[in-house]
Amino acid sequence: MGSSVTNAATPQKPDKEIQKRTFLIFLVANWILFLITTFFLWYISYPGLYAIQHWLPMIVGAAFILFHGIVMAGFGLIVLTIISKREILFSQRLRNLVLKIYLPLTISAPLTILARRLFNISKEDVQRSFIEVNNYLIQVKRFGLSADKILLLLPQCLQHSDCKVRIAKNILNCKQCGNCQIEEIIRICKPFGVNACVATGGTLARKLIAERKPKAIIAVACERELVDGISDCYPLPVYAILNQRPYGPCADTSATMGRLRSAIVHFLSGKESKQELEQPWAGTA
Ligand code: SF4
Repeated sequence: MGSSVTNAATPQKPDKEIQKRTFLIFLVANWILFLITTFFLWYISYPGLYAIQHWLPMIVGAAFILFHGIVMAGFGLIVLTIISKREILFSQRLRNLVLKIYLPLTISAPLTILARRLFNISKEDVQRSFIEVNNYLIQVKRFGLSADKILLLLPQCLQHSDCKVRIAKNILNCKQCGNCQIEEIIRICKPFGVNACVATGGTLARKLIAERKPKAIIAVACERELVDGISDCYPLPVYAILNQRPYGPCADTSATMGRLRSAIVHFLSGKESKQELEQPWAGTA
């Protein structure tokens, strides 16, 4: 394509460094710490609970076992899905629940912060790893949606910083001059009939979702916004595409057009995608 932004884009991180296991290791480590903490709390509160009712420690203990059992089943299903490369029956809700409960805890937990410092892993690396896990769980699921049930949400910073055209209200106002990827995105979405919108912030994104009621979202944004968006939109599936920021944050960013197209095809097709959808860090298509 003829975009100067695209040509100048540099990969932010080689594929191999963005691994699903980074997030999963932090997830399990934090859960084990939480498990030990809850056991310790139960143990020291045992005499007090027993004094209230002799059966109370057993009830509280059973509740803890049930909670951790559900979480453990969720972990198992995530790992099984990744290993088998297929959707495990009825596991979607359980896996989403685990990610919903543990996602903020995992990324911001003191143990994660300590381990990140020790092993020189940035917060963005953990967020990207989570995004990879999220995307993988979507790509092994079958959808078969109609185009009007898919919403593509784009950040304002994809638009060329010198462009005066107002595309926030309607992306089709774009004059398709080729100076940024908005032109190419319109060209990709049009034949499929998929709606693309520019969301200037989380509030507008939520408003667009409430109005259009999509069954699936493809979102382009930075790590933090994608992670927040995936969490906020639960249980809606959000296929996340990280933007590239060769000129710094929030200015003249770009995204992998091949991955965007593959995500649309995946949501429309009703088939599992056995191969990884095109990687987001490898430059543009
Ligand atoms: S007119 Fe469209 S393609 Fe050209 S810079 Fe503006 S948004 Fe980008």
